[in-house]
Amino acid sequence: MTGQKEPAAVRAWEQNIRRVTPYVPGEQPQGGRLIKLNTNENPYPPAPGVAEALRKLDAGMLRKYPDPAASALVKALAEAYGLASEQIFVGVGSDDVLGMAFLTFFNSERPVLFPDVTYSFYPVWAELFGIPYETCPLDAAFAIDPRDYDRENGGVVFPNPNAPTGCFLPLRQVEDILRHNRDVVVIVDEAYIDFGGESARSLLDRYENLLVVQTFSKSRSMAGMRIGYAFGSPELIKAMQDVKYSYNSYTMSLPAVLAGEAAVRDQEYFKETVGKITATRENAKKRLAAMGFTFPDSMANFLFIRHRTVPAKELYEALRAGRIYVRYFTGPRVCDYLRVTVGTDEEMEELYRFLEEYLAARD
Ligand SMILES: *Cc1c(COP(=O)(O)O)cnc(C)c1O
Repeated sequence: MTGQKEPAAVRAWEQNIRRVTPYVPGEQPQGGRLIKLNTNENPYPPAPGVAEALRKLDAGMLRKYPDPAASALVKALAEAYGLASEQIFVGVGSDDVLGMAFLTFFNSERPVLFPDVTYSFYPVWAELFGIPYETCPLDAAFAIDPRDYDRENGGVVFPNPNAPTGCFLPLRQVEDILRHNRDVVVIVDEAYIDFGGESARSLLDRYENLLVVQTFSKSRSMAGMRIGYAFGSPELIKAMQDVKYSYNSYTMSLPAVLAGEAAVRDQEYFKETVGKITATRENAKKRLAAMGFTFPDSMANFLFIRHRTVPAKELYEALRAGRIYVRYFTGPRVCDYLRVTVGTDEEMEELYRFLEEYLAARD
């Protein structure tokens, strides 16, 4: 029998494995000269204070466990946003925060509702935690219709602006969803809110069932540090903390707490980089439209584009061969589009040049 596989019947342990289909993040190509516009990272470095905080970090400081409450970071966020510390939860990227929120708040027999075209991690967490869910189709223009969320459910979650479309749902319509869902937790995933939208944070006073989730990965240029946070009523935050402390007390590393605190304290730099990206995005809308691309009006740091005549998959492959990475999703409706992250003006010029040449050569 040596060298041979054991018979299937012996491997009973296989039947007890939790089988899941994981979320697939965008490619992180290594080395060489390339333009990376595929995972919505910020092309600018984090605030200068972040590098300084990391320089001051002594390896000896890593000997002890970090503060489980990440108080320094929570305090900085509380001050920056005019909230109480009891209204803030922090985690290892907003993926960690959202995962904890799903686990904490979506514990009903009724289905959780989210859009059919949205962040593809939502169905993955729902499957992992055994949460029933139903999707609500976006309209022909990729907009969320608040009426779709006006029915019995076990909770609601949607990104605003939505991903991968970039569409922003005006606050008055976010409030419409809240008004019709007072008995469940409503999670607004604001990963891209700093690029022009209006945060639902202002509704926290009126809706104690509202959880607003944000991240350092996009507008604060710190995807590699993994910091996310949520704003909510003290009751919601306490419930999330109880779940977190039942799973892993020490989620935030000392470097993440110190670097995050430094980033939040520099609002000037934050406004400046966000301003540069929104200006580049508005220019990209003009340049891409002139080349025959159409797209929903994005309020995020990316554009969801399709060409009048050339299939998205063909463009994706041509760009990739030219060392320009953008995101291509398979699946109904989204397969006709490319999601292009807004980079620096220089990176975008190279993108426009490549596309102009490719489209001209194809004619
Ligand atoms: C990027 C993104 C996140 C998660 O980002 P983290 O890096 O985990 O903070 C969450 N939601 C949406 C819609 C995103 O696009």
